[in-house]
Amino acid sequence: MCSVRLEPPTHTIVEYFHNPESTGRSCGYCKSETGSFSDGMWAHTMSPENYESLINNGWRRSGCYLYKPRGPVTCCPVYTIRNISSKVEITRSQRKVLKRFKKYLADGVLPKQQKYSTLEQDHAPDKMSMECAHEISGTPEINVDKPQKPAEKQPSSVRSTHTNSPQTSKKEHPLKKKLLRRERKRQKLIAKGLDPVEFFKRNERNRVSELQDFFTPKDSDKVLFSTKLVQVDSPEFDEMFPIEHLLYKKYQMHTHGDKEHDCRASQFRRFLCDNPFGAPSSEGRVPHGTFHNQYYMNGVLIAVGVIDILPSCVSSVYFFYDPEYSFLSPGTLGALHEISFVNNLTTQDPTLQHYYLGYYIHKCDKMKYKRKFRPCELLCPVSNAFLRFDERVLSLLDSMNGGCAQLDQHMSIKTNTQDVRNVLLLHNRRVLPFDRYPKKTRKPMS
Ligand SMILES: [Zn+2]
Repeated sequence: MCSVRLEPPTHTIVEYFHNPESTGRSCGYCKSETGSFSDGMWAHTMSPENYESLINNGWRRSGCYLYKPRGPVTCCPVYTIRNISSKVEITRSQRKVLKRFKKYLADGVLPKQQKYSTLEQDHAPDKMSMECAHEISGTPEINVDKPQKPAEKQPSSVRSTHTNSPQTSKKEHPLKKKLLRRERKRQKLIAKGLDPVEFFKRNERNRVSELQDFFTPKDSDKVLFSTKLVQVDSPEFDEMFPIEHLLYKKYQMHTHGDKEHDCRASQFRRFLCDNPFGAPSSEGRVPHGTFHNQYYMNGVLIAVGVIDILPSCVSSVYFFYDPEYSFLSPGTLGALHEISFVNNLTTQDPTLQHYYLGYYIHKCDKMKYKRKFRPCELLCPVSNAFLRFDERVLSLLDSMNGGCAQLDQHMSIKTNTQDVRNVLLLHNRRVLPFDRYPKKTRKPMS
């Protein structure tokens, strides 16, 4: 159980759960009964720097529990996916969502539900929480409650177009179309005597400011939109906790079909409030740690994005919202807002420029929305290098049928080697450097 800490942790203490079992656990994605294999550990305390290193090695967290599916053996291999926020590209469907949001703020008129009911299907906002819950469900050593069977729970509108079985798309990927459009544009610019590199750079800057404009309220708006970033366990957070919990319960029950007893306040706290980071550091320009970004319409809380702000990225943990606002595609809006938020942080700290969307499973159709937040990169599970999610990577994943692929197989392998001698271990309630630990443990045996 995590407790409130006044200072950020200076070291990391984890309890590793080695699972040497020969049969796996049930999988929420492909419905295999025994196909899911993962490793896990409980983080008693962890620095944001250490957590960032772990997510760059394929780990994720849910509360204080960290997990990593075993790529080569698990039924649904996962790839960490991230967006390069400073180069954000807004797709046509995302632009539609943003314009609809802006129009709603401007005139305050609720659109007819029918008119927009199909748009959310493109952006099933189930996000990472499902995966987290899925992983926790397989860790009986730790008494962590969880939402149930992730992949089964989808709004009926989503269910109508997505099956729960893993599928591989046979359609031409939009990335290819985009590359063709870009090449045609490049040729046109050259023909006009313009510099394509400079043109595309200016375009990137414009896209960043365009995205920010969509979320900037206007005086003439009929609906007042605002967001508030609150640190977990701060007095402001505690004040809003009961209201957040009610919203969470409404979302889980309506959108994912959870029972009321699955959405207790203690579960909400353990799943989306507890974290191993402690209080954000006051050093540096951007505080690191776990935050809830609260979205308000006319002063009423309508959505919450749970995020970890880490030294060089923002990692999305979960997003939940009032189902009555489904017509605005809150899942897509929330992710775009978080990308825009990262861009704001980049101006304060230029090293912080990625937005992590959790895991991507290639053979799971419901995950495809994640690669629409472009440009995006996938973490190669073999080399631990991030690669642009381009046509080549897409073809490779297709050819592997979503299996565990070494994405940068034609490149030299980069391995994250670290000197472990100074890694601290907890032994007999004392923190020891690793190079002193073996001597201690050998004593009783000699
Ligand atoms: Zn599976």
